[in-house]
Amino acid sequence: MVKCPKCGTEVVTPVKKWSIPSRKAAKRGEKRKLVMGIFECSNCKARFRSAVTAETSAGETVNVKNMVERIKGIKGELMQTLKNLREKINTLETERSSLMIEIGELKKMAESRVSALEGEVNMMREEVQSLRDLLGYTEESGK
Ligand SMILES: [Zn+2]
Repeated sequence: MVKCPKCGTEVVTPVKKWSIPSRKAAKRGEKRKLVMGIFECSNCKARFRSAVTAETSAGETVNVKNMVERIKGIKGELMQTLKNLREKINTLETERSSLMIEIGELKKMAESRVSALEGEVNMMREEVQSLRDLLGYTEESGK
């Protein structure tokens, strides 16, 4: 919104507008362009040039909207990542419990194998002893 230089009436929209690169903004490293416009006073019909100030705030509003949209997007991505992680955790927990069961079964199998071998070894010891007895060998005969 600008004021007519002749009568001071406020003019909202320009008849014509165009943007030029702002030297001040360029020095500050900003890409913002300065929007100029030709305004026509509704009261005295005077035409004058002025910077379009409303354009800047509209641009800033768009920026804020964009930022909000971006934040929403990032939030959505985070939610998706969390969901994926939860699913992964569930899968891993299921796999873990099935592996625990498998380990338990393997342990049982190994234990029964050990006891079977122990029984076999004991039988063989007894057999060796009985053969020694048969041949007349005793523990003292080795001297
Ligand atoms: Zn005027």
